Amino acid sequence: MAASRPEPLKERAPLMAFDYERVFADAVDGVREEKRYRVFTDLARIAGRFPHAVHHTETGPRDIVVWCSNDYLGMGQHPAVLEAFQDTASRLGVGAGGTRNISGNNHPLVMLERELADLHGKENALVFTSGFVSNEATISTLARLLPDCLILSDQLNHASMIEGVRRSGVEKKIFRHNDLEHLEDLLKAQDRERAKLIVFESVYSMDGDVGPVGRICDLAEKYGAMTYIDEVHAVGMYGPRGAGIAEREGEMARLDVIEGTLAKAYGCLGGYIAASNDIVDAVRCHAPGFIFTTALPPAIAAAATASIRHLKGSGAEREGQQRQAATTKHVLRSRGLPVMPSETHIVPLLVGDPELCKAASDRLLDRHGLYIQPINFPTVPRGTERLRITPTPFHDDELVGELGEALVETWSALGIPFANERIGVAA
Ligand SMILES: *Cc1c(COP(=O)(O)O)cnc(C)c1O
Repeated sequence: MAASRPEPLKERAPLMAFDYERVFADAVDGVREEKRYRVFTDLARIAGRFPHAVHHTETGPRDIVVWCSNDYLGMGQHPAVLEAFQDTASRLGVGAGGTRNISGNNHPLVMLERELADLHGKENALVFTSGFVSNEATISTLARLLPDCLILSDQLNHASMIEGVRRSGVEKKIFRHNDLEHLEDLLKAQDRERAKLIVFESVYSMDGDVGPVGRICDLAEKYGAMTYIDEVHAVGMYGPRGAGIAEREGEMARLDVIEGTLAKAYGCLGGYIAASNDIVDAVRCHAPGFIFTTALPPAIAAAATASIRHLKGSGAEREGQQRQAATTKHVLRSRGLPVMPSETHIVPLLVGDPELCKAASDRLLDRHGLYIQPINFPTVPRGTERLRITPTPFHDDELVGELGEALVETWSALGIPFANERIGVAA
């Protein structure tokens, strides 16, 4: 009798199995509860009409203006950059065909590295598939190669640098943001002979403030440390040839490693380091994030080279960006909006609450056709949620005026405090 009633194994099995999907759904719910869940806006940029784009909505496409692009100078649509891209793709094809070690090295990439070494006045340069990878791979590799290395890392360093520090597995000390006294105290406490790597940024992209590059180099020399700077938000935009803040301040030669991206002001994709032959060669030979991944497509390399060359010779884009950023800050402040202090092209506008920040962004898009992504925790500290506005040379005075109108309407409608209703924000 029992033999005719087999155990319903198939039905019981799922109850006993681990509920994988549940874990992931819970992980997302946690983010939702903290009001940090992100929805990506479905956009198509329009070459030739930057910063205009098409927003694909449920009710069809509509024309909008983007105010939060990191294509800071509109180089992603520059005729010389587009031509280099198209011409190289026609001649060399699309993919690189492999890693640099196995069949993926290509002439446009070699030319790009020469261009980058020249840009930063270094012996050599090495290109990675992104700025993120260049930071993660280089910091972790250099610190691992240095015996008993101590990393000194600015508190507000980008996630990709923090990943590099973590992956190195070496001892680290975090110094308070841009705090030279704190950095010096930490350096002083170590033997001069100990290997030390100071990692920091030039332009910090969420507040738009600038690291004291020269004075960090002073400390590095005094205490025998190596320096690594992330100039991702400065390359293309500062310095006479667009090599960044270190170029502007005449400090490039004192920095051991300069890291940058080809994806922001240069409008393409990829990351790089520029340094001495020995440093570049060590990373090339030892960094898994460089060795075990397919090289950048040749057309991207050629486009990036065209972009760098153009910005080396032309200051018009840089001047246009600085002018429109200053105009934007001025117009928004004169409308009573809480523009946070910023020394650079970045215009942060304080909201101070994650839900309001998201609501403001939604309203600007839906009502006013303006796209500004909300910036919430963990990208910025809680209570400092903001809209991060990045004017480019293509955001003309008329667009700036429209932005001011739309923001005032949004601030009033949602009851977000204006500058005079806040404490601690320069108005
Ligand atoms: C965006 C960013 C990176 C990463 O660069 P990608 O080329 O986008 O990967 C690195 N550092 C900082 C400070 C950044 O903001």
